[in-house]
Amino acid sequence: MTFQADGWTNKVRFYADSMLGKFCRWLRLMGYDVQYATSDMNDNDIIEICQRENLVLITRDDELSHRYSPSVFIRNDDYHSQLREFISLYPPDRSRYFSRCPLCNGPLEKTSDSNIMESLPEGVKKLHDHVYVCRNCGKIYWEGSHYFSIMDRLNEITGHHGEKP
Ligand SMILES: [Zn+2]
Repeated sequence: MTFQADGWTNKVRFYADSMLGKFCRWLRLMGYDVQYATSDMNDNDIIEICQRENLVLITRDDELSHRYSPSVFIRNDDYHSQLREFISLYPPDRSRYFSRCPLCNGPLEKTSDSNIMESLPEGVKKLHDHVYVCRNCGKIYWEGSHYFSIMDRLNEITGHHGEKP
């Protein structure tokens, strides 16, 4: 099953097994709604959550992928190849990049709120007139050098070389 980039990212939510932590953080940076299992959860717990919340399961466990549908079985070990594998099935929507917190999956909100801007380090305050705040955990993000290296990495993974956001 393959989806078009537009139209599905809003609706489809994912659940990944605990072996896919780094991969998940990258998916969230690309705007995918993805939660992941803790290592103390067994296969039955994972399947129950996916069924209850209507989630697409992403797993490195071939057997588990056969016990639940819809699921995506990830073959590769390194997160680069894992992401390539995944986006060949669920293409990213670039307009949704940086819309989710990589740490907790909460939605990011663009803000120029003066209280938040005042709380930033001087160097950041000078360079930015807005930041992004996670509505769930409160972590603040801005488009610093880290942002551009992430963007380069995402372009490398998705094959959009040299494009700016
Ligand atoms: Zn967060």
